[in-house]
Amino acid sequence: MTTQCRFCHNPLQHTFADLGLSPIANDYISREQLHRAEKFYPLHTYVCEKCFLVQIEDFESPEHIFGDGDYAYFSSFSDSWLKHAKAYTDLMVKNFGFDASSQVIEIASNDGYLLQYFKEKGIPVLGIEPAGNTAKVAEEKGIPSLVKFFGVETANGLVADGKKADLLLGNNVLAHVPDLNDFVAGMKIVLKPKGIITMEFPHLLQLIEQNQFDTIYHEHYSYYSFLTVSQIFASHGITLFDVEEIPTHGGSLRIYGQHEGGDRQLSNRATKLKEKEIAAGLDKLEPYLSFGEKVKDTKRKLLSFLIEAKSQGKVIAAYGAPAKGNTLLNYCGVRTDFIDYTVDRSPYKQNLLLPGTHIPIMHPDHIKETKPDYLLILPWNLKDEIIAQTSFIREWGGSFVVPIPEVQVFS
Ligand SMILES: [Zn+2]
Repeated sequence: MTTQCRFCHNPLQHTFADLGLSPIANDYISREQLHRAEKFYPLHTYVCEKCFLVQIEDFESPEHIFGDGDYAYFSSFSDSWLKHAKAYTDLMVKNFGFDASSQVIEIASNDGYLLQYFKEKGIPVLGIEPAGNTAKVAEEKGIPSLVKFFGVETANGLVADGKKADLLLGNNVLAHVPDLNDFVAGMKIVLKPKGIITMEFPHLLQLIEQNQFDTIYHEHYSYYSFLTVSQIFASHGITLFDVEEIPTHGGSLRIYGQHEGGDRQLSNRATKLKEKEIAAGLDKLEPYLSFGEKVKDTKRKLLSFLIEAKSQGKVIAAYGAPAKGNTLLNYCGVRTDFIDYTVDRSPYKQNLLLPGTHIPIMHPDHIKETKPDYLLILPWNLKDEIIAQTSFIREWGGSFVVPIPEVQVFS
């Protein structure tokens, strides 16, 4: 079977990383489900030799990846994510002067974690969120939320209702879009003539250089360099005139778009970043093709560390139940033979088991009760926040372990 590129339809034939079979990251299971069969799907990414879009191969996609009532991710449970959302709001209002006469529309608005800050400033907001349960939480906060996937059809509906955006934003959604061209075409439709688009997504250059292969999971269909994302938006009549490199998710981009021919000048930052990506070879196949070996090496190093620790009789627990943890643990074959349990602050995840590996998810207080020697931080992008919150493990000589870019122990 040949899969075609999600953007340019070129046949895909070059592997970027093959992570074997993995369950869907947010398919946490209950103890009652343990006797049932569990579904695993191929987690194989390719790079397109024509546009260099890194993407997951088509798999038999279950309908419930997003959009059903069980989707367990609520953005408001992360302190640093809320801080980031507030800083973004302040920056946008300061730089572009949005006010009570503006319309802000967020795609994948989750539980209203970000739009609440625009609302506080009296700026009209609208969220578009496919997951009904998270949208409901947003509505309860007074954030109007449309329960829909975004694309041309939804965009046309908004325009018919007289809604167009002065600021159209989407954070960590571009990677999640199966029909990329339909999504970007929809953005073009709903953007006012002088409107601004901003989107944030993990930067492919960081993924490659920092070995962040665990950010590959089924919900992430595409992985973008600035070069490739600029091509994609340009093909739909949107010019990316500016870009910021920001630290979220281990290194993300925040792109700024306007209608083709708009007033805003191409920034130095945009020119410089393209040069940096070209210097890293992202306009050639080679750096993409050599990534797979780095991934295998990381697996061997993590397993060596865990085997050594267990043979010394150490107790290892994990922190967090993020999607990236699922990729890492399933790819490396790490189960309760190495890790007794993990903890998560979200009550929606507690008392469930991680998919595939069946590691139990406990309340964070469980760490104090069991005093593990090592705490493996799965959401390594939040490691500073997590180390600060759980620094008490040092009272009994506990150490923190971060798996990516390579195993590092902090005692
Ligand atoms: Zn392509």
